[in-house]
Amino acid sequence: MSERETFMPDEVLAASLAKKGPKQYTLWVDLEYCVGCHACTMACKAENNTPLGVDYNRVTEVEIGEFKDPQKSPDVRVYFIPMPCMH
Ligand code: SF4
Repeated sequence: MSERETFMPDEVLAASLAKKGPKQYTLWVDLEYCVGCHACTMACKAENNTPLGVDYNRVTEVEIGEFKDPQKSPDVRVYFIPMPCMH
């Protein structure tokens, strides 16, 4: 797998580049790389000048797994899911 395939499969990129007519852009966030820094939330907030407490882009934290045995390392994984408004 090439570095670019990590972000977009070749066939998806080729189909997108071959498409005629107006371009439609998209934002692809690979959740394996999201560290929950909220920079996207802050960038959106700055661009749209939203007031305090109003965020068009949120990042949620999801914890999956269990703390089964206190003597062992927990079997858990945390994912951050950025949720832009898609506008
Ligand atoms: S929180 Fe937003 S800016 Fe930070 S890594 Fe995740 S998607 Fe990127």
